[in-house]
Order: sequence, then structure tokens, then C-alpha cells
Amino acid sequence: MRYEYQCLECGVVTELECSIYEKDERERELSCFSCGSKSLRRIFGAFIPRPRGTSACSSCPSSSTSACSSCPLSR
Ligand SMILES: [Zn+2]
Repeated sequence: MRYEYQCLECGVVTELECSIYEKDERERELSCFSCGSKSLRRIFGAFIPRPRGTSACSSCPSSSTSACSSCPLSR
């Protein structure tokens, strides 16, 4: 799994590649590779903003109108 975090200080995106089991621990130690800040915000690389009123993400079945488990919006 690959996760991306944007630094709130300088805006640089830091990538973290690890298993989902390691994620929490790695996330805690993660700091911006550019400025070293720990103020990181998780971003979703595959997430494309959709018009309001659409709950389904691109990975949802097209026939479904509800959010699937991988929808960012369902979190
Ligand atoms: Zn930074």
C-alpha cells in the first residue's frame, strides 16, 4: 500500500509505502522529507473531487448509488 501525506508547513508531499499493518506505526514516525515537520495531512492520490450529491466513488459499481467501503466520502 502506498500512502501520501502533504506537509502543512511547506506543502511537499511525502510518500509512505508499507503494509496496512505497519501504517499506524510508520505514520507516527513520519515527517516531511523536505522540512522535517511532523504536521502532515493524509491525502488520497486517487481521490478526484466529484460534484455534490454524488456519493459513489470511481470504484463503486455504476449501478450503485451508495458509497462503497473504499469511498473516501463514506469515512
Ligand atoms: Zn515540509
